[in-house]
Amino acid sequence: MAVQIEKTSSKKVLNSAVPQSRIPYNKPYVAGKELEYIEQAIANSQLSGNGNYTEKCHKWLEDNVEVKKAFLTHSGTAALEMASLIADIQPGDEVIMPSFTFVTTASAFVLRSAIPIFVDIRPDTLNIDEQLIAKAITSKTKAIVPVHYAGVSCDMEKICQIAEQHKLVVIEDAAHALKATYKKRPVGCMGSMSALSFHETKNIIAGEAGALLLNDESMIRRAEIIWEKGTNRKEFHLGLTDKYTWQELGSSFPPSELTAAFLFAQMEEADFITNRRVQIWELYHKGFEQLEMQNLVQRPVQWSEGERNGHIYYLLLENNQVRNELLKFLNDRDIKAVFHYIPLHTAPAGQRYGKAFGDLPHTIDISGRLLRMPLWVGLEDESVAEIIALVKQFFGK
Ligand SMILES: *Cc1c(COP(=O)(O)O)cnc(C)c1O
Repeated sequence: MAVQIEKTSSKKVLNSAVPQSRIPYNKPYVAGKELEYIEQAIANSQLSGNGNYTEKCHKWLEDNVEVKKAFLTHSGTAALEMASLIADIQPGDEVIMPSFTFVTTASAFVLRSAIPIFVDIRPDTLNIDEQLIAKAITSKTKAIVPVHYAGVSCDMEKICQIAEQHKLVVIEDAAHALKATYKKRPVGCMGSMSALSFHETKNIIAGEAGALLLNDESMIRRAEIIWEKGTNRKEFHLGLTDKYTWQELGSSFPPSELTAAFLFAQMEEADFITNRRVQIWELYHKGFEQLEMQNLVQRPVQWSEGERNGHIYYLLLENNQVRNELLKFLNDRDIKAVFHYIPLHTAPAGQRYGKAFGDLPHTIDISGRLLRMPLWVGLEDESVAEIIALVKQFFGK
């Protein structure tokens, strides 16, 4: 048996029978009602997508992220791929994005034969440097894809202003950012479109799932068609047309109702999940304060424009060697700290399909010095304290 979930329990973490580190970097959290809702989905006798639970999730997202329309997808990657279809990205179009991000931020557009233009990040928030975006725009630029790293918002006011000036589409990669805020509004509500991920390593999870959120009303009808394999299935079901036909290029984007049922149980607990993650984030932050004063580590910068959602806690070490030594020190003690991202512009496919805008010095530097600490809802305060003590011990403090 791989996992144990007690139906009656709430606030449980999956216990894996697969060998894991004593303190893994992530453990999927189970809110409590997942199995009950999955049973209900089975009883509803609709297992394919776009049933009751999908509708509940759509409504929750529309209310919580303050967007006009939500579409569940089978992954965050699929949400980005759907966005590139809706934006009508054509071969040779340029799409501006950070290099310091997950692979599929770029590959979703490369699938449409577009060219990712990789721009450097700011050394404070590790988000795309909005000052560089305008400089990277050419006559081929079609879209800007800001990634809200670690659940900290990009400077969306500036980015949307640049996009408006140049008539570009803004597609937010908000995979890290559900329940984070920017100027008191939910992150994900400012671009024409935003992609979310519910992968098991994110804050709100469903194994593999995602969502595409739309703010631009003029995109909704095409989005409905693209979501449902490029057909007018929706209008057919509403009785608005007597034919159900292929209308344009789409794909199969909805997740099954089983996934949506699991996801809805998580959404109901979203505040609890976010609060606990933020609590752990703050424990780390306080715990590493002294080391930062002694110039041994750099902690994430507290950004005044919004509230974070505790998605990632990271430290920046002095250089790549110290980072790798600390990584090994913790891993040797069965604590799974991890690093990411290998800059996309230096990766084989990134070089083949994309273009770097300049040398991206901050991206290269940060990628070599960043270390992520374990962070999940069930992580005990004592474990956080142990990790902090071990990092201090590593520095001889
Ligand atoms: C996780 C993630 C994705 C992809 O989400 P999946 O649900 O795993 O497909 C895209 N972009 C970023 C920044 C991510 O962290």
